[in-house]
Amino acid sequence: FRHGEPSEVVVPTPNGPVAFGQHHPLVVTAGPCSVENEQMIVETARRVKAAGAQFLRGGAYKPRTSPYAFQGHGESALQLLAAARQATGLGIITELMDAADLDVLGEYADVIQIGARNMQNFSLLKKVGAQPKPVLLKRGMAATIEDWLMAAEYILAAGNPNVILCERGIRTFDRQYARNTLDLAVVPVLRTLTHLPIMIDPSHGTGRAEYVPSMAMAAIAAGADSLMIEVHPNPAKALSDGPQSLTPERFDRLMQEMAVIGKAV
Ligand code: PEP
Ligand code: MN
Repeated sequence: FRHGEPSEVVVPTPNGPVAFGQHHPLVVTAGPCSVENEQMIVETARRVKAAGAQFLRGGAYKPRTSPYAFQGHGESALQLLAAARQATGLGIITELMDAADLDVLGEYADVIQIGARNMQNFSLLKKVGAQPKPVLLKRGMAATIEDWLMAAEYILAAGNPNVILCERGIRTFDRQYARNTLDLAVVPVLRTLTHLPIMIDPSHGTGRAEYVPSMAMAAIAAGADSLMIEVHPNPAKALSDGPQSLTPERFDRLMQEMAVIGKAV
């Protein structure tokens, strides 16, 4: 692994450059699991921007467990993200599942997300390593820390130094009360192993909106550089991940609660 000074990943957005890293303020990315329609994505973008988020997240290509579940609106969803970006100036983070979509997705995304299920898709990692957009690499649900860091190394080795690591919960023996086990101990552990910025996703990490605020606060206490939080204007009607999505009101309150703690920089 590569050691040394903590690296910073600076992402240009319409609202100005946003820096991820240990010596920078907390960066928050928020938004729905899936981009559903123009009205909901633009409304969500405005609400999370007003609450203080720097990035809008939203899936156009969705890695669903069931092939019969909503798969995402694809390229038309990317265009809706562009509309939300133009309306708010927020940067866009969206998931790439297939290398065939890299060129088009790269035109819309400010940060390209590689999801948990593709963490060890090595040919995809090599491709995003060979293009200029920063990459958010989510931890695979059964990946060891070494598996995860070696996956990041594929991107770095291919020439892209702008990698952010995202913990999103791992599979353990109990799935009755929480969807995953959010491994917050990775924050201090990764600090000894890597210079890369660290994001925590308490939404996928718990699977339940009611548990998200406390784990977001805990992530800041643990020293995370960044958070990813799913927010939906009407979680009960969401096409994916409604149970873990905060309402814009609850997200706004969480942002105020987090500001009280603040991130040590
Ligand atoms: C997501 O961010 O909506 C997602 C599918 O995440 P993960 O890859 O962590 O399951
Ligand atoms: Mn999701």
